[in-house]
Amino acid sequence: MSQEIDVSLVHVTKRFGDLTAVDDVSFDIPKGSFFSVLGPSGSGKTTILRMIAGFETPTSGDIYIGGERVNDVPPNKRRCNMVFQRLALFPMMNVLENVTFGLRRRGGMSKAEMEKLAEDALARVGLQGLGKRKINQISGGQQQRVALARSLVLDPTVLLLDEPLGSLDLKLRQAMKLELKHLQARMGTTFVYITHDQTIALAMSDTIAVINKGKIEQIAPPEVLYRRPATHFVASFVGENNKLLAGRVTRQVDDQVCEVDFGGIPMVGRMGDPLKPGDTVDLFIRPEMILLRPGKHQDGILGKITEINFDGSHSLIAVALTESSRPLAINVKLQHTEQAPDVAVGDIVTLSWRWDAANAFHPVDQSHIEKEA
Ligand code: ATP
Repeated sequence: MSQEIDVSLVHVTKRFGDLTAVDDVSFDIPKGSFFSVLGPSGSGKTTILRMIAGFETPTSGDIYIGGERVNDVPPNKRRCNMVFQRLALFPMMNVLENVTFGLRRRGGMSKAEMEKLAEDALARVGLQGLGKRKINQISGGQQQRVALARSLVLDPTVLLLDEPLGSLDLKLRQAMKLELKHLQARMGTTFVYITHDQTIALAMSDTIAVINKGKIEQIAPPEVLYRRPATHFVASFVGENNKLLAGRVTRQVDDQVCEVDFGGIPMVGRMGDPLKPGDTVDLFIRPEMILLRPGKHQDGILGKITEINFDGSHSLIAVALTESSRPLAINVKLQHTEQAPDVAVGDIVTLSWRWDAANAFHPVDQSHIEKEA
């Protein structure tokens, strides 16, 4: 089944002087999907968004919106609209005037028509009846929704969102991220959301592109990104992980699974990179995927609990591996279910995990050397 594509980047590069901010990036964003670009500060996210919006021109490569090549199309002629992190609402205007602002600039409509559209947009974001309030008379979350309504009223094919939840406190951010996702699903508008906050990207997106130093590391649905990271960077950036450094591959079990030795202890993991016996690897193990059993068992790794940190629904348990020839510790996230074992600091425990709870990659430095060689 072929999907209709709303936004396409084809080998897009953007240089600022000597700096390559975006490096040969290509992706397709299907119509009606929630697409996030996730990466650390300075990785090139804003530059990508600004090129889609038309505020920057690619140094090379092409950008398509709705099938049309838009490299030379000015921002106001592109069927996309941008919601900024600093919402840029006008404090002197009331909510309704803020929402009709773009329509007034566009022109060609009566005041009544514009206000009708604005009321509809406000209703869509759950703010009906607040049109007459001044911006400083509504809460931060409501301001967020006004900024959304102001963009939605222009009926863009694509809505570009520059981390608009970033300025909200944690609780409001949690609430708004679900609202935003529901709104997007209801409206069917294509959302392109940039963020450095993985919890936001994982919770809202249909697809996430992880970017690092201007290059795409992986493009995948959240679950795939989380379970099967494609690169060392994605494994360390997305989700919590135990990161064990510089083990040695002892055996390739099949084309996906390998055994790795850390200080004389055999561990199992998924091969994120093509690996062979003798290779040095870093192993990333998800703390919530580790089975912790009290006492000694043959089929696992022995350790001693050194710390327990209670965190509401779960505890984070630090376990020092007792049979390792070098100091090694693994954190286990233990959910407080009825089946959860009762454990205390000093207890001997056995750890084990399914092969796909751990991901093995060449250490980053080595892979750089290999790439450059
Ligand atoms: P953040 O999360 O901090 O906003 P980002 O991932 O959005 O970061 P960009 O703003 O796209 O990153 O910047 C990517 C790189 O390009 C950075 O090194 C930045 O300093 C540089 N850069 C961005 N805009 C310009 C510009 N107009 N002139 C020169 N360099 C720029």
